[in-house]
Amino acid sequence: MELPRAGLLSDLDLEAVVDDTYRYVETYRGHGRQASYIPALEKVDPNKLAIAVVLGDGRTALAGDAEEPFSIQSISKVFTLSLVLDRVGAILWNRVGREPSGSPFNSIVQLEAEKGKPRNPLINAGAIVVSDQLIGADTADAAIAELVSFLRVRAEDASIAIDDGVAMSESQAGALNRSLAHFVAAFGNLDNPVEEVLSVYFRQCAIAMSCRQLARASLYLAFDGVDPITGETVTTPDHCRRILSLMLTCGHYDNSGDFAFRIGLPGKSGVGGGILTIAPGVGAIAVWSPGLNQAGTSLAGAVALERMVEATGWSVFA
Ligand code: GLU
Repeated sequence: MELPRAGLLSDLDLEAVVDDTYRYVETYRGHGRQASYIPALEKVDPNKLAIAVVLGDGRTALAGDAEEPFSIQSISKVFTLSLVLDRVGAILWNRVGREPSGSPFNSIVQLEAEKGKPRNPLINAGAIVVSDQLIGADTADAAIAELVSFLRVRAEDASIAIDDGVAMSESQAGALNRSLAHFVAAFGNLDNPVEEVLSVYFRQCAIAMSCRQLARASLYLAFDGVDPITGETVTTPDHCRRILSLMLTCGHYDNSGDFAFRIGLPGKSGVGGGILTIAPGVGAIAVWSPGLNQAGTSLAGAVALERMVEATGWSVFA
């Protein structure tokens, strides 16, 4: 069902909703466990807490550490998917599926049975295939530059950059992701050399953005692919719909069903503790708290989103 359009939101006291959500979720500050398999992520202050909401009319409400950049990790997979769908279109689905995996983000088990075709573009193996497609016939450096520049334009903020320390840390601790990439390559599902592809994948995960930047950058996904503030067409309505359906069904790995049940909005989590959520026709919400639940989704972040959708009724199932 269509959510209320931005025009009908004029009576909403957005600041009050965000303030209430922040106060409510503060009791969960520091809960959950930080990702430790990427050493650089473990060094982040576990008490960080941030909320940012950007609506279609540009109204923005921030709380906590909403201006502080953090490692977006797997949230980057939404944006690489968006760029690659625009470049190669439906051919992508020959390389990667569209089914929830029901498995952890870095699982290798299904890859063997399914002959190197990852279940979906939002698990690691699928995102690695998407990174390969982003390189295309160009170089890894050109692909990552395209992504960073896309995010800077979308967020209207030229300060967005890769955290080289996190990228290095990921690469050094990247045995499992290397295994996934080699497995996919063994089935002929990568066009570029594994290390080239991984250099894009590790760097895209290491992009640092604040909640405000994330919410602003993804606003086009709430408006059929058109940035409602600049009027620019970023992607087609068809691609936008496909991205949102994948976020809803696959955005949180083996926690995707629970997230859809509790929050009812397309979202994507990252092991840096960020969650990006899209309310179609309304706007974008980004939250950040480094402590994760068992499936790698921010614990306090999900509680904040649950509180906010309860207060606003923003659900695709409303
Ligand atoms: N860079 C992380 C990895 O590849 C991303 C996982 C995530 O954020 O869910 O393991």
